[in-house]
Amino acid sequence: MSFRGPKGTDDILPPESRRWRELLRSWDLLSEQYGYAYVATPLFESTDLFARGVGEATEVVEKQMYSFEDKAGRNLTLRPEITAGVLRAYIQAGLSGEFKGSYSGPCFRYERPQEGRRRQFWQLGVEYLGANHSEADLEVIELGYRYLLDCGLGEVVVHVNSIGDASDREAYHSRLADWLNERRHLLSDQAQRRIRSNPLRVLDSKADQEVVSEAPKPVDYLGKDGLEHYEQLLAGLTERGIAYRQAPRLVRGLDYYTRTVFEYIPPGYTAAQNAVGGGGRYDGLSRLLDGPELPGVGLALGLDRIISAAGSSPPARALDVFLVVADQNRRSLAHAFARRLRSAGVRCDLVAGYRSVRAQFKAADRRDAAAAVVIGDEWDDGMVTIKDLSSGYEQVIPAGEVAMWVVDGGAVPR
Ligand code: AMP
Repeated sequence: MSFRGPKGTDDILPPESRRWRELLRSWDLLSEQYGYAYVATPLFESTDLFARGVGEATEVVEKQMYSFEDKAGRNLTLRPEITAGVLRAYIQAGLSGEFKGSYSGPCFRYERPQEGRRRQFWQLGVEYLGANHSEADLEVIELGYRYLLDCGLGEVVVHVNSIGDASDREAYHSRLADWLNERRHLLSDQAQRRIRSNPLRVLDSKADQEVVSEAPKPVDYLGKDGLEHYEQLLAGLTERGIAYRQAPRLVRGLDYYTRTVFEYIPPGYTAAQNAVGGGGRYDGLSRLLDGPELPGVGLALGLDRIISAAGSSPPARALDVFLVVADQNRRSLAHAFARRLRSAGVRCDLVAGYRSVRAQFKAADRRDAAAAVVIGDEWDDGMVTIKDLSSGYEQVIPAGEVAMWVVDGGAVPR
């Protein structure tokens, strides 16, 4: 028998895993620079949290949840997204006021697997709780935008829309439901069912795009405050040099959004299915989860999609140096040298146990080291031979300068 990973899941192995680590690290760094503190919540939560938080009439809750009963009969679900969990954690901890949290981790949705659509996938996100000003929305959009540019995605365009507050939506919902009802015969079965339960959802039904492209727009139904918020948002995007486009029928897949919704579309992609991330404001979510009145805005990016959209850039070398011990009597000395190099931030390794010099050089290549450092007779004079494994160029340098050699890029051909 041979085991295979479950359908729609991926193993992340080297060398690709290096790119993953790199992108995760730069996410942590950038979100910290914007003042977001790391948060981690459970991979599973009570099923009700998502049913309520994400919305009963959504694709995610209707069809895509990995739900199960545990041995005590509790109804649990592997998280299909992370916002609801973060809100739950904030409320449970009795926090109040502003809170800026950042996270990354796997999410689970039972979808038909294809490139960029996996059953286990990674989300990176932030939630900015307790702030209702449009500057909070702008900060979140800017953070995601900058991150995607840093990932090498090129000319990302932010598609934005405002779907209004609960009060704006009442008028809009009934107008939209009427409009859809008049065209009922043209709509898919699912869309027909949703006219009553959740008319907004019909706007992003793939099968009904032609019909809904003429539907009334939420922005035409915004109240005074909602309109002002949206206008400030658009002006702020321009001021910050963020490339955006208004997408008047963008509603996104989860129910909890109010006012601002947005998606990041990479260059060469169209909006259908190709967002690498998105988010929006969710001022009603906390109340929905029995929490306090608490505005919030957030975003989630899909790491799997970022990596496939960014294309394959040659990953950096796995190791800076590989130590080759020419004289076996110097093995423990070589280990001590490795420890010093590692403390100095050099990614350094060597084989375990005795191997011939030839075998050690082979190992250096296989381990994708940028350079080999040979510890031989020169050691007595405080020297080592360093060999650039790409160019073959060799040099004898003081052992104490190996770390500098790496920092200066001597070992990494540029
Ligand atoms: P959503 O929570 O649906 O707005 O998703 C936010 C982001 O997560 C999307 O823009 C995608 O980049 C990513 N994402 C969502 N579902 C999947 C999936 N099944 N596979 C890979 N990435 C996904």
